[in-house]
Amino acid sequence: MSGDGSPARPVYLIADLGGTTLRAGWARAGDLTVSGVRRVAVDGIARFPGLPTGELQARVVDQLVRLLGECSLAAPRSPSALAVAFAGPVGRTGTVVDAPTVWGRRGPELPLARILGREFAVPALVLNDVTAAGWRYAAPDGGEDDDYFCMVTVSSGVGNKVFRRGEVLLPADGRGGEIGHLRVDFAADAPRCDCGERGHLGAVASGRGALHAAGVQARRFPEAFARSVLSAACAGDPGRLSAQQVAAGVRGNDAFAVRTVTPGLRHLGRTLAALHTALGVGRFIVIGGFARAAGEPYLRLLGEEMTKASGFLLPPSEAAGLLQPGAPDDDDGLLGSLRCLERSGSPGAAVSRPALPADSTF
Ligand SMILES: [Zn+2]
Repeated sequence: MSGDGSPARPVYLIADLGGTTLRAGWARAGDLTVSGVRRVAVDGIARFPGLPTGELQARVVDQLVRLLGECSLAAPRSPSALAVAFAGPVGRTGTVVDAPTVWGRRGPELPLARILGREFAVPALVLNDVTAAGWRYAAPDGGEDDDYFCMVTVSSGVGNKVFRRGEVLLPADGRGGEIGHLRVDFAADAPRCDCGERGHLGAVASGRGALHAAGVQARRFPEAFARSVLSAACAGDPGRLSAQQVAAGVRGNDAFAVRTVTPGLRHLGRTLAALHTALGVGRFIVIGGFARAAGEPYLRLLGEEMTKASGFLLPPSEAAGLLQPGAPDDDDGLLGSLRCLERSGSPGAAVSRPALPADSTF
């Protein structure tokens, strides 16, 4: 019993493991916040680019166990369950299939939920990070109304997940949410994607794609570049630009920055228009570091491109209304995986029975 005589609420451990940053904390059942959040640089390929995949997997798992252990000690009581949002495809039972941004080349599948469940002796839920984000925005009651939306992330890559009435729409084998690997640029020298192929949406419309395009445009149009805020931001050397600086240029309506991102935005807008036209998805929630930094002007431009691609179904007034920004923080993975854990009712189901969302793409 707690101090006020009511039964003490269960405590959960929650983590968000991305390509560069691992964060973890604890939460009380029924609360919508994660407390005591610790943040460390991931011991993956970003820090140790030369190491083989198997060794990076071992390092990342050790680090995750260590950080969750610290959070467990800091929590007010022993945890009853844990959840991890993971930046890569995750199978139904919490097995990580692939994680190019975390440990590079594909290695053996990693049964992360089973490893963590055994380590902490609690039910463990591991889910894809874009799916986790979607649970943050899904209607709490499972959607009495037609809660039908598509998460879209624009950061170092591009990904999506469609949710409807409290379910993420994925088949048993988890195919889905892979718009980032749709080929949109068929030029022989199109930018290369994380997956190794050229011209994929994730290579063209991501923050990385915007940065690549800015470099190309700066060399082709040096005078226009010199007049732009991007030139001022990098002291005239496009090799020193960052994706965040390009995004800030878009947010400030800098003409050069807008022209730079427009081809990628056009491809993304056409892809989202196709989703809307085919499925009637009512809302697109746009998250990810690049989209967040580029702000409202980015969403407005994206809406314009959607209208150009599908003006019949999407007149200008409606396209803009379909696009919504995510929350102005970086907590989608933490809060979404907490929400998913709570929605699963019996967290034990996450381990023994694949009753939780089938997540398998990024
Ligand atoms: Zn790809």
